[in-house]
Amino acid sequence: MLLDHLQSKLDALKAQSLTRFTRVAETGTAPRQIVRGADGQARELLMFCSNDYLGLAAHPAIARALAEGADIYGGGSGASPLVSGHSRAHHDVEAQLADWFSPWIPQARAIGFCTGYMANLAVVATLGDAQAEIFSETLNHASLIDGTRLAKAKVTRYAHVDLQDLRTQLAASSARIKLIVTDAVFSMDGDIAPLPGLLALAEEFDAWLIVDDAHGLGVLGEGGAGSLEHFGLRSERLIVMGTLGKSAGLAGAFVVAHSTIIDYLLQAARNYIFSTASPPAVEHALLTSLALMRSAEGRARREHLIGLQARLRRGIEALLDRHPQLPWRLAASSTPIQPLIIGGNAEVMALAAALEQQGLRVPGIRPPTVPKGEARLRITLCATHTDDDVDRLVAALEACA
Ligand SMILES: *Cc1c(COP(=O)(O)O)cnc(C)c1O
Repeated sequence: MLLDHLQSKLDALKAQSLTRFTRVAETGTAPRQIVRGADGQARELLMFCSNDYLGLAAHPAIARALAEGADIYGGGSGASPLVSGHSRAHHDVEAQLADWFSPWIPQARAIGFCTGYMANLAVVATLGDAQAEIFSETLNHASLIDGTRLAKAKVTRYAHVDLQDLRTQLAASSARIKLIVTDAVFSMDGDIAPLPGLLALAEEFDAWLIVDDAHGLGVLGEGGAGSLEHFGLRSERLIVMGTLGKSAGLAGAFVVAHSTIIDYLLQAARNYIFSTASPPAVEHALLTSLALMRSAEGRARREHLIGLQARLRRGIEALLDRHPQLPWRLAASSTPIQPLIIGGNAEVMALAAALEQQGLRVPGIRPPTVPKGEARLRITLCATHTDDDVDRLVAALEACA
């Protein structure tokens, strides 16, 4: 019987400390948030878990633009983009994105999606047709993996950031179309993919490089354009997916690539064609968000973020030096994702609970999201954190050590 079947699976998760639950946020993320816990109590927590890296979700100019967009367009888009859902604001966001990426992608064009999950399904499943072979990095985000499951292409995995392994796999392939698929910044580790080496292999083996820049956009590169700008890459072989719910502070996603690739996605991507377009007010506000990311203010926020990263790493490294018996390990990351690897599931959840007792919210991440025995605190920093916020986190960790 279905209910018994599901209950026994739920019980098995509970026995392994793998049960997940949602909390109710009563306010926005700023980075202090009033959160109602499982006990029904609401309290203010200092959050180190948002992917709103630039702190734009709470930016007053974005809230104003959202309200202005609602005044102009009202609520929902009412239909899929190819029917009547594609507003002037959708059009302008795509044009802005194509312009932003034109230094790195020749003949760049952009196409919008409601979420990054949808964009990844679209680009991987649509380009990965029966003539293609997909070379997929082992630590790719779940949405890229699900894209490979929908694709008709043969799927080959290569080891994490292992250019030699990828070279061997590419050399062994006789596929007519070769697609290398990778996260730019790995979401649970914070490390950056070796994109210059991946692009060189793409050129050598006549392959295409699909880059998921969910955690690079807005954060990496002096102008915030993400991992391509960070490495100074330029090629028509680059296909970039970016999300707009993280550092852009709103919602949505896009794929930017050579115009022929985008023309084809518009004709063939099922989750573009058969899904209602995002609300136009969100797109209207995205124009403000894109302008902020590219502005001097965006640059200043990125610089502050880099300072916070260095401060946090110094603080945690000193703490680990003072407590050499601790099995904790700080991942090698130069991004706002700063994971502290703890080990066991129960241990990481106990630590997260102890931090919450001290008014700090840092999520524990467990398998299957990360490998077994590598459960971790996924600390993320935002430009709206202060130096004092970072010091408070280090002091709270010290109290749990
Ligand atoms: C968050 C994320 C996505 C999905 O983006 P959404 O807009 O949240 O659906 C895709 N890839 C990576 C690496 C992500 O972290």
